[in-house]
Amino acid sequence: MSQFSSHSFAGQKALIRVDFNVPLDDAYNITDDTRMRATIPTIQKIIKDGGSVILMSHLGRPKDGPTSKYSLIHIVGHLSKLLSVEVQFANDCIGEEAVNKAAALQPGQVLLLENLRFYKEEEKGDDAFAQKLSKLGDVYVNDAFGTAHRAHASTAVIAQFFAPGSKMFGLVMNAEVASAEKVLHGSEKPFTAIIGGAKVSDKILIIENLLDRATDIIIGGGMAYTFFKAQGGTIGTSICEDDRMPLALEILAKAKAKGVNIHLPVDNIITTEFSNTTERKNCESMSIPDGWMGLDIGEATRAKFAAVIESSKTILWNGPMGVFEMENYQAGTKAIAEAVAAATAKGAFSLVGGGDSVAAVNIFGFTDKVSYVSTGGGAMLEYFEGKVLPGIAAITA
Ligand code: AMP
Repeated sequence: MSQFSSHSFAGQKALIRVDFNVPLDDAYNITDDTRMRATIPTIQKIIKDGGSVILMSHLGRPKDGPTSKYSLIHIVGHLSKLLSVEVQFANDCIGEEAVNKAAALQPGQVLLLENLRFYKEEEKGDDAFAQKLSKLGDVYVNDAFGTAHRAHASTAVIAQFFAPGSKMFGLVMNAEVASAEKVLHGSEKPFTAIIGGAKVSDKILIIENLLDRATDIIIGGGMAYTFFKAQGGTIGTSICEDDRMPLALEILAKAKAKGVNIHLPVDNIITTEFSNTTERKNCESMSIPDGWMGLDIGEATRAKFAAVIESSKTILWNGPMGVFEMENYQAGTKAIAEAVAAATAKGAFSLVGGGDSVAAVNIFGFTDKVSYVSTGGGAMLEYFEGKVLPGIAAITA
């Protein structure tokens, strides 16, 4: 049992770093509350124990201090509904109001502090700011996996002001770390990593780290075209990072030396413009005509990738196979989601991580058909790159 689950919060004030950095529309409606819902069980366990809760988070990237657009007051109503508790709000995350409201909290009550990033000290990891925050609670709980790769005041620096028994991960953080560890260090083979997205440069480190762990690496999305061109293919106007072509060849050579199977698309859906309305056709990967660009994996590729995925016991998926934001180029990513769901139904462990692949499984309705959907985009990526995340090290070190 984790430290969090076995800890009794009765009579304590738990200061929780959550990730409530949710997307809001122009009328301040939350358009995706996944991150809020994820952390509700952590808050509820503390309330059930007889503790009170002080929540701290960032929202967006405010540049010049307090800005109403980035105020967390916009989420108080929805949070109250999710918790069935009337959540109190402090207009500042430190200072007199925050201190008084935190001190007055009774068991079962919840206080949300204003956006931490209204202070530059948050992202700078300022000691004095972290210490002020720490004074608000008796116990520190970090449940913000989405910011665990940042050494900010509230995500890492603050931990030094709490004794070992009074700082711990919440349920989200525990689940994220357990799933990532299962994939990285306890993976049953065959282990297939599916890496997509726009750029090779963003995914180099993760691919390199996975070369020592995966049996198969599927490469799709915009990054595949750099691999085709590097091998002498013609790619028309498809997205390509010319300066990364040597690196692409290096990855292929390393994979061969290590016995890792790299699977690249054999065909693509091509079109003439970055548009949902232009003519489309299926085309072999290495010979895309001039003036045409690949925006999705092709039909033969979908079947080929699905066969690899469905015979896997461990699956990690980061990044879409095409421009899934446009309806005409969704089929490749959807086929992969279906294959991951089918493999999961047969007993494989599947982890989907990284913003866009998570959005894709949500859109296509596969969230409940994979083993774990990570709430942390950048954090998950860095975890799989083999980096030590400051938010994790601050508690475990
Ligand atoms: P990433 O954030 O690196 O995972 O990249 C996700 C983005 O890659 C999405 O917005 C996709 O639209 C984009 N993408 C995927 N395939 C392609 C492609 N063939 N051409 C251009 N962009 C792509």
